[in-house]
Amino acid sequence: MRLRVLASGSSGNAALVTLHEGGRRHDLLIDLGLSPRRLRGLLRAEGVDLEGLAAVLLTHGDVDHLHPGWARGWPSLLAPPIVLRPGHGSVPARAGLAHATTRWIADELELGPFRIRGLELPHDAEGSTAFRIDAGDASLGWVTDLGRVPEGLAALMHGVRLLALESNYDPPMQQASARPEHLKRRIMGGRGHLSNEQAIAFVRALHQADALPGRIVLLHLSEQCNHPEVVHEAWLRLAPELADRMRIAERRTPSEALFATPADLAPSATG
Ligand SMILES: [Zn+2]
Repeated sequence: MRLRVLASGSSGNAALVTLHEGGRRHDLLIDLGLSPRRLRGLLRAEGVDLEGLAAVLLTHGDVDHLHPGWARGWPSLLAPPIVLRPGHGSVPARAGLAHATTRWIADELELGPFRIRGLELPHDAEGSTAFRIDAGDASLGWVTDLGRVPEGLAALMHGVRLLALESNYDPPMQQASARPEHLKRRIMGGRGHLSNEQAIAFVRALHQADALPGRIVLLHLSEQCNHPEVVHEAWLRLAPELADRMRIAERRTPSEALFATPADLAPSATG
């Protein structure tokens, strides 16, 4: 199983999970935060059509995760099901996708070769959703748009081979930014986004629980209040022994393929 982050950040989020099994290819998309035209082009470059996806997992309905263009761009034929929490039940209709097929993720969902679990994350009024995807001995976690690490998240992510985790902002850059105070409070107030330090603390907690992922890819860096250099510096300061496992997803360019299998423990296995 491998992950390619297609885009990450407030300008749009989408990622592709691909598994080859039994001579067949199975694909899951996480989030629809790019325009239909752009996302279809990126999927085509990965060798799959939207109509060929096993499902789309939707973290939440914000426009950077569900682009408004899908109201008109969603296929009427052969559309994949959209997987979401029951708490997000009104999201598709509100986004103009009332005709989409939905699958609820309450406990666990089997979708072809994938076993999918979800957990509510504290984010604005409706929350976001963390996903864990397992297939055979491969496993990955997808955790973004959360103001803090909620109870149950460490248990859900225990033992994932690959962890994709939000590392949204550097607190001093946030404080010093020209953003209005109410926006700063929203982001840092526990129902906004995860800081670099909070992301590192979560990975360290997994490490202490003997559940360190082989690879960590950081998501959703703020353009105004974060920078890859600042993130690297924080990892070297707070978790130097873990820093070589960490990658940063680019904002607008698809990432390298990241493997969610045990083999990825060797750095040379990426590509
Ligand atoms: Zn977002």
